[in-house]
Amino acid sequence: MTTLYSQIPSTDRLLRDEAFASLLTTYGHSRVTQTLRQLQDEARAAIRDAQRLPAWCENWAQAASQRLEHENSHALRSVFNLSGTVLHTNLGRAVQSQAAIDAVTTAMGSAVTLEYDLDGAGRGHRDRAIAALLCQLTGAEDACIVNNNAAAVLLMLAATSAGGEVVVSRGELVEIGGAFRIPDVMRQAGCILHEVGTTNRTHAKDYRQAINANTAALMKVHTSNYHIAGFTKAVEEAELVELAQEADLPVIVDLGSGSLVDLSLYGLPKEPMPQALIAAGVSLVSFSGDKLLGGPQAGIIVGKKALIEQLQHHPLKRALRADKMTLAALEATLRLYLHPEKLTQNLPTLRYLTRPQAEIRDQAQRLCDALTARYSEFALRVEPCLSQIGSGSLPVERLPGAALTFTPHDGSGRRLEALASEWRTLPQPVIGRIYEGRLWLDCRCLDDESRLLEILLK
Ligand SMILES: *Cc1c(COP(=O)(O)O)cnc(C)c1O
Repeated sequence: MTTLYSQIPSTDRLLRDEAFASLLTTYGHSRVTQTLRQLQDEARAAIRDAQRLPAWCENWAQAASQRLEHENSHALRSVFNLSGTVLHTNLGRAVQSQAAIDAVTTAMGSAVTLEYDLDGAGRGHRDRAIAALLCQLTGAEDACIVNNNAAAVLLMLAATSAGGEVVVSRGELVEIGGAFRIPDVMRQAGCILHEVGTTNRTHAKDYRQAINANTAALMKVHTSNYHIAGFTKAVEEAELVELAQEADLPVIVDLGSGSLVDLSLYGLPKEPMPQALIAAGVSLVSFSGDKLLGGPQAGIIVGKKALIEQLQHHPLKRALRADKMTLAALEATLRLYLHPEKLTQNLPTLRYLTRPQAEIRDQAQRLCDALTARYSEFALRVEPCLSQIGSGSLPVERLPGAALTFTPHDGSGRRLEALASEWRTLPQPVIGRIYEGRLWLDCRCLDDESRLLEILLK
């Protein structure tokens, strides 16, 4: 035992070793020393518990290097999203356009006109430039930007309706996941939820009968992540606006994703558009920046000038406001919508959603040809598959695409799990999906084919 302990080299001796020179340059003296102390402790523990030195003691420099490299790898890493879900919340939703990336890079590295008015050298307000763009795109009078759509809903309710009742259909008491539930948000905003109608049917008279002296607003919530079919009835926004005008109340809408372009023009299922609601006379509409819009995480509220003013001056706005990077990315994204003819080229989300099935299938076939020999324990096949839009957008719609599938020759589920987990540890992890006894790599969102091949062929 004592002889084993004596084989653990001293920190000083190790640090003088030539093999440590580059580690010291890269990581600095204190981090390398700290790592060596940890390794020495682990070696002593191994001697105490197992009466032997761990195998890595053969090469202390290599062990320290691996440890430091591992600690240095970022928690937020780039992955291949081959999961079949285009807007995958756990994978960061929308991939940003080159225009947004460039705008953020500039905003990060320099001072910017965030709240600075170059004309009058006075203090502008940070949403102003984007508000002008949003008005142009949606026909609204004004706009307000916050951190995400959950924040937008909270702010709309708090600023317009705190202390009062907000009338919502029982068919629209949505839970989005991650603790966003309309009744809870309502309570946090200081509003009283007044439910009307039933799960499947709500009529205009239900809203009308609910209006009383304490009513502050009528609200609609887009049922983005579920679908009620059959004997159903909901009240259209335009009809609700008429009703609200009689009682001098605002109509507020949580649109969820919202799309600034008519998706049916691209052969995609239609998603409601904020501009249609503005045209119908809705007072405030909120939607996400990183769902179908294809921009950064943000909550966008468009609507009537007087109400947006109220939102801008509410104390919560200060707590929920977006930072310069978000605003830069959002502005660049919105500018792409000024040139709709090029959107499917310039906006990655729309590019993925509109990729022709044949193109995806050809890509999957190229991967299949290149990878078959390397993955000989599996049968590789190109199969048609259905991708999801994700993030609660159009929950029942599916997009026909193609995937490269891996089926273990021996049918072993464990082998499949092992492959999926091996891919999660790659320098750029590859995220697929296991179902029906196969591992599926949906190629819809695959941009860098050669990098994927390089990684999977190692
Ligand atoms: C997605 C969604 C939200 C939450 O939006 P985030 O941008 O994720 O905060 C709220 N309401 C509806 C209807 C949604 O679909």
